Amino acid sequence: MAKKYDVIVIGSGPGGLSCAALLAKWGLKTLIVEKNEGLGGKAVTPTKDGFTCDQAPKLQVPAQGPSFATVFKELGIESMLKPIPLSVAGLAYRGPSGKYKLGALPADTGLQPGPLFELWDLEPAKQDAALNFMVNMAMMPADQVSALDDQTTEQWLSQFKDIPWQVYSYLMMHANASLAEPIDLVSASEQIAIMQDIALRGAAGYYVGGFGRVLGDIANAMKAAGGEIRTKTRVQKIKVSNGRVTGVSTDDDTFEAPIIVSDAGLQPTVLKLVGEDHLDPSYVSWVKDLVPGWAFTGVRYHLNKKVLEYQMYNIWADDTTMNLERFLKMRSGKIPDEVLMFGTVPSNFDPTMAPPGKQCLVAGTICSPDPTAKEIKMLLQKMDGMWNKLYPGVMDAVIYKEIEGPKEISEFTRDSVVKGQGGECVGLGQIAGQCGKHQPSPKAPIGGLFYTGADVGIPGMGTHKASGGGIKAARMVMQYKRLRQAMS
Ligand SMILES: Cc1cc2nc3c(=O)[nH]c(=O)nc-3n(C[C@H](O)[C@H](O)[C@H](O)COP(=O)(O)OP(=O)(O)OC[C@H]3O[C@@H](n4cnc5c(N)ncnc54)[C@H](O)[C@@H]3O)c2cc1C
Repeated sequence: MAKKYDVIVIGSGPGGLSCAALLAKWGLKTLIVEKNEGLGGKAVTPTKDGFTCDQAPKLQVPAQGPSFATVFKELGIESMLKPIPLSVAGLAYRGPSGKYKLGALPADTGLQPGPLFELWDLEPAKQDAALNFMVNMAMMPADQVSALDDQTTEQWLSQFKDIPWQVYSYLMMHANASLAEPIDLVSASEQIAIMQDIALRGAAGYYVGGFGRVLGDIANAMKAAGGEIRTKTRVQKIKVSNGRVTGVSTDDDTFEAPIIVSDAGLQPTVLKLVGEDHLDPSYVSWVKDLVPGWAFTGVRYHLNKKVLEYQMYNIWADDTTMNLERFLKMRSGKIPDEVLMFGTVPSNFDPTMAPPGKQCLVAGTICSPDPTAKEIKMLLQKMDGMWNKLYPGVMDAVIYKEIEGPKEISEFTRDSVVKGQGGECVGLGQIAGQCGKHQPSPKAPIGGLFYTGADVGIPGMGTHKASGGGIKAARMVMQYKRLRQAMS
């Protein structure tokens, strides 16, 4: 006998867990089916040799009022979230002088970018133009931001003739580091939303115990509300009959529900779990054309002593940020001399994340999302060299390194269904013409099927976007259920 539920959620990433926990809390008999042994999707924080490190998400943007806060509040567990705000970010920038300059940016600097101007060696005559631009961007009203859905950040910036190159370079770095996109593809509306979060909502933050602990708390709240979770269970098919979902089949079981919410990624859900035959060909081709973001090549450096002072690091130069032209060059085998890098030191947020007297540096650079990309090995070597040059002592203190590139991340997230793409996708359709008003709805064109997670999320970065997608999907499911009840 197939087991029956009100709703089945496929996948337990930030989007899946947020949605499932809310639905369970709101009284629906809810089941999560997760293919991995652990919960959390990409937001997992394993412990090894006393080091506790996140495998994908490392920073919460915004620090104030992220989607997780909304979910925790609705679940009645808000006191358990335990955010840790960023206090100071370490920055390194190589501008026209040709030499890297190291700096530090207090997170409460807000709209007073003095330390940034100093780092950039920005001449006083250009500071007013830079400041005006940044304040106007931070304060831009929501309707003006969403009017930019169809422009790339680069196109939008081209109208500001007097902004210094350093500002342009800073936005290029953020397009790469916050969205895994290039400035000449990413939509201005998506990027401005993140820049506003950074400027006005506490820059960035972290959580006691890391992201994995946050997702664990949501899972526990879901179970406390009567929800069920099956791990190590891969959904093979979403069953559809007469244009409506009826349940899911796994390797050796079947579960029935009139509502299915998928956190398995919009493209894998449509192209693999449902199958093209059940959908209008024009919808299928629209789904295929949605562009997933690029990826990050990451390393966890386990250090035998405390070497790094700050909680996070951003390291870039005008010629290390990645636009389309540079990306294509790199893909053709021309590896740049230096790379853009970002890093976090979890134990500088929460001291329990590393053994006493030790540190783990979680670092990354932007790369192709193709798990077999040849340049990844070279990028890893470049990263080692850059840390050695800019922060002497880091490489000498390395006990061992662990790689977390597209190949490693793809193994525990969504399935690969798009050519040249693994499963690590930070966000789908973040480029001009595909986001905002063009973004896919959580409601699929099959009765009872919904999507959750980053692909249908809210504007913003990573987990904030994905968990926001979970809230959106949960609200839509409740409306759908009420409508169905009213009609029956
Ligand atoms: C290297 C890297 C660094 C990142 N850094 C940050 C950061 O600093 N801050 C930030 O906020 N975000 C960051 N992100 C982005 C963030 O991790 C994602 O946006 C977020 O995890 C997306 O959540 P999701 O719920 O949409 O999907 P996922 O987290 O991918 O979860 C999907 C879940 O579905 C499951 N699943 C898939 N198919 C099936 C199936 N057939 N059957 C059963 N289960 C299935 C998967 O196993 C997985 O558990 C980063 C991502 C990467 C890759």
